Amino acid sequence: MIADPRRARQEAVAAALAAEELEGLLVTSRANIRYLTGFSGSAAIVAVTRGDVLLVTDFRYDEQARAEAGAVARIEVESTSVWDRFFQALATLGPLTVVGYEAHVLSVEDAERFVQAGKPWRWKPTKHLVERLRAAKDAGEVAAIRSAAELAGEGLRRTLTQVRAGLTELEVAGILEGTLRRLGSEGHPFPTIVASGPRSALPHARSSRRVVAAGEWLLLDFGAQVDGYCADITRTVVVGARATERQRAVYELVAEAQRRARACVRAGMSGRDADALARDVIEARGFGEAFGHSLGHGLGLEVHEAPRLSKTNADPLPVGAVVTIEPGVYVAGQGGVRIEDDVHVSAAGPVLLSDGRTELLELV
Ligand code: ZN
Ligand code: ZN
Repeated sequence: MIADPRRARQEAVAAALAAEELEGLLVTSRANIRYLTGFSGSAAIVAVTRGDVLLVTDFRYDEQARAEAGAVARIEVESTSVWDRFFQALATLGPLTVVGYEAHVLSVEDAERFVQAGKPWRWKPTKHLVERLRAAKDAGEVAAIRSAAELAGEGLRRTLTQVRAGLTELEVAGILEGTLRRLGSEGHPFPTIVASGPRSALPHARSSRRVVAAGEWLLLDFGAQVDGYCADITRTVVVGARATERQRAVYELVAEAQRRARACVRAGMSGRDADALARDVIEARGFGEAFGHSLGHGLGLEVHEAPRLSKTNADPLPVGAVVTIEPGVYVAGQGGVRIEDDVHVSAAGPVLLSDGRTELLELV
């Protein structure tokens, strides 16, 4: 019998509470609620104390909450005010004086409820307490991200056989999203980016009605989701022609930087040093200014989570993190290339979860 990982997570929160001199934590982040209880609905409030977990939701989620979270949390269902019920139930969790809340998540409107109904407790802001725990993934989480990444890779392979000059970016996005859905993706973790020609130089372009022309870059940045866990992949291809020498040179530079970073990233290395693995390669060729974003980000229940692989992160990468490695080179008016794969930073070294295909694809 394998221990329920949610119990271990709840115990880790209890230990973090003790370290911060809190007796309980109010959890309102949907991803944190799912992580700690398994509940995947859109509306719930959770309290974690050192010995108890309470989940209050509304009548829409009665059955779902009991099925998903009933084994690891006390479920209360309320049909009028979830917050009123929450404060009533909190009073039954034993003598609590100082309770933390997620300052980075809670709205000002909800925080004002503490002033009215939350009187008996002293409320203390916390930041990223559960998110810090989420940065290191357990085996089940890594397996879910791997499934999502494999699904994404297969979705792209099937899509590229249908891509040709004359389609709009939105049409390509539609083919890709439909394929991902048919393969079993639970959702699109973020709006699919399909950017062609000069628009590929916009790192976070939205797919548009622009028609893709022969010889242009086509950049596809998209995700897939399995058991709530996200994959995040980017591929850049040339449509309807062989690549020019200039295109090939830019592409090979990004691919080289990407392969180096994904082979050399290690737990214990700072986010800044990880970022430099790719940045040094690109800067050495004079394209430093054209790589204007950070190398990557953590990946899990949310598509952007800790740790960040960026110049401003001096903290060490935790063992077990899953991160994206996504350097890019963008030249305004011409176009851009980004290549993104998903990597598990295990104790034994980096393990590629996505297909890692970095050869330049020419769709002719
Ligand atoms: Zn991406
Ligand atoms: Zn990404």
